[in-house]
Amino acid sequence: MIIDILTLFPKMFEDFLQTSIIGRAITNNKLQVNIINIRDFSNDKNKRVDDYIFGGGPGLLMKVQPLLKALNYLKKENSHVVLLSPRGKTYNQNKAKELLKIEHLILICGHYEGIDERFFKYIDEFISIGDYILTGGEIPAMAIVDSLSRLIKGVINDESSVSESFEDNLLEYPQYTFPRVIDGDKVPEILLSGNEAGIRKWRKKKSLELTIKYREDLINKRGLSESDLKLLNEDEKWMDEIIHKAKKIINKE
Ligand code: SAM
Repeated sequence: MIIDILTLFPKMFEDFLQTSIIGRAITNNKLQVNIINIRDFSNDKNKRVDDYIFGGGPGLLMKVQPLLKALNYLKKENSHVVLLSPRGKTYNQNKAKELLKIEHLILICGHYEGIDERFFKYIDEFISIGDYILTGGEIPAMAIVDSLSRLIKGVINDESSVSESFEDNLLEYPQYTFPRVIDGDKVPEILLSGNEAGIRKWRKKKSLELTIKYREDLINKRGLSESDLKLLNEDEKWMDEIIHKAKKIINKE
């Protein structure tokens, strides 16, 4: 997959693209990310890329000319052009899987007060990363690149990607590392037992419990099967709150 990112602040991506899993994915040629400075495409003698807003209002707006020149330079037949924008639908794991099928993704980062409206007809879609305003599209672009890199085959261990949160609309189960006891708080016995089937069952149950407790919206989307309910009912210590929520979901009260 090739991702071209158009930005006025290329420096923001320097460490990001060299660090951790993304750095490895790029070094191992699983992913190619090109950072393109929009300013390089400005026809203005001072390389200006923004200007005042007609009708008044605070701040500056990004001009169409440099963006369009950059886009025309980069765009190929198989390109999909995304503008990071509060106008878009909120990004999620399903959208990440959809984007993963694209061969050439172009991510455009707005900045300042945003972009002249007349540029929007050149993009394929808007994507937002949530209902809050950021200074620029750079952090949203990083969020997208990061989430995509984890889904590319061979970048992370296949097992860890299938058990991660949002697979099957469930949160991930609780995890523990050394030491086995902290201030009397013990790692659950089952995880030390070597009983693989038992561990799988415990983890599924905990995923269901956590999702019901913290992300009722996800469990409402997913629903609960008879076998989920059976699994949940096995635990006598199960919290009243969770039982109540599960019953509500099943009975669609
Ligand atoms: N004036 C704009 C408005 O009210 O919608 C906000 C402009 S914002 C300060 C500058 C740029 O940051 C936007 O053009 C967009 O590219 C990016 N941006 C800000 N918040 C975002 C979000 N939640 N998701 C994606 N991009 C965002």
